[in-house]
Amino acid sequence: MRRGTSYGAPCRAEVELAEAIVAAYPGLEQVRCVSSGTEATMSAIRLARGFTRRDLIVKFSGCYHGHADHLLVSAGSGLVTFGEPSSAGVPEPFASLTRVLPLDDEASLEQVFASDGERIAAVILEPIPANNGLLVQRPEFLRSLRQLTARAGALLIFDEVISGFRVARGGAAERYGITPDIATFGKVIGGGMPVGAFGARREIMQHLAPLGAVYQAGTLSGNPVAMAAGLATLRVLERDSGWERLEQLGQYLDSALSPVLESAGMPVRLARLGSIFWLSLQEGDSPRSAEAIDAQAARRYAAVFHALLERDVCLAPSAYEVGFLSLAHREQDIDRLAMALGEAFEQATRKQATNA
Ligand SMILES: *Cc1c(COP(=O)(O)O)cnc(C)c1O
Repeated sequence: MRRGTSYGAPCRAEVELAEAIVAAYPGLEQVRCVSSGTEATMSAIRLARGFTRRDLIVKFSGCYHGHADHLLVSAGSGLVTFGEPSSAGVPEPFASLTRVLPLDDEASLEQVFASDGERIAAVILEPIPANNGLLVQRPEFLRSLRQLTARAGALLIFDEVISGFRVARGGAAERYGITPDIATFGKVIGGGMPVGAFGARREIMQHLAPLGAVYQAGTLSGNPVAMAAGLATLRVLERDSGWERLEQLGQYLDSALSPVLESAGMPVRLARLGSIFWLSLQEGDSPRSAEAIDAQAARRYAAVFHALLERDVCLAPSAYEVGFLSLAHREQDIDRLAMALGEAFEQATRKQATNA
C-alpha cells in the first residue's frame, strides 16, 4: 500500500501475478487482470464472441458465472430452448442468445450442437460446479464437452473463479487433464481483495484491445494492492505445500464425518473435491446436476444448520452453498465440526419426530 493504491496503468505486481497464472495453468499464454469474477466471465464471453464471430452462448443450470446480463439466464420450458432472464432488468433478446442445458447430460449437449453448432461462440461452465451444491461431474462428460466444442469451432470456457488455485495449482484443468480455450479466475487469486482474471492462448488474447477489436479495460484493474495480496496468497500456497495440505485436511474431514453421517438418522451424503465440501441431505448418490437435487433436502438442512449454530458452528446458511477448508483450519476444528454435527443430527431428527 505504501507504493501506491492505484495507478490507472499496469504495475509490476500485475505482470508478476499474470506470469504466475500463466506458469500454473494448462494452455494459457496471456492473462488480463480485472476486478471481479463477474468482469472476468463477462469479458471472456465478449472475447469468445469476437474471436469466433458467433453470438450464441451455452451454459448449464446449476452453474453460476457472476451477474453479467447474458449469464443471468435460466432454462426455458422444454429442453434445449431459448433461455429466459433469471433477473428483472435482463432483456429477453439478451437471454435468447444463451442456451441453458442440464449438467451431466451428453444427449442434450449433442442435440444443441447438432441444431446450433455453427452459431455457438462458447460453452461456459464451472468444471467443478460449486455454486448450487457441489455437483462433481463425470470426467467423460467434461471430455465430450471438450470434443464437441473443438469439432464445432466453439470455445470452451472453464470458469475457475472458485476452483482455480484451490483444487490444484492448475485448477480443474490440471485435475481432469482437460485444457479449455479460455479460463476465468477470481476469489483465491485476490487473497481476499477484489480481483478477477481471464486468460487464453495468444492467438485468442490478441483479439483484445488495444491489439485487437474486442474492447476491454478497467480503471482499477490490476490494482496494485489486490495484485500484491494475490501474489502473497500464491506464495504461501507454494511455500506451505498448500494443495497437499488441503487434500490432507479433506481426507481428514471424510474420515471424521463418516461415522457421524452413518448414524445421522436421516439421509446424508458428503461430496468433497479437495477443500470444497457439501452435505446433501438426500437419498442415493451425491447429485451431479441441479435437477437431481431433492427439494426436501433444503428443509432438512435448515434444521441441521440451526442446531449447529446453537453449538457455535456456522456452516453456509443455504443448503445449496458449499463449505471450504482453508489453511487456517486444523484437525481439531474438523473434530469439533464432527462432534457438533453428530449432536445436530440428533436434535434435528428428534424435532422432525415431534413435528410428525
Ligand atoms: C463468485 C463467482 C463468480 C463471480 O465472481 P464475483 O467476484 O462475485 O463477481 C463467477 N463465477 C464463479 C464460478 C463464481 O463462483
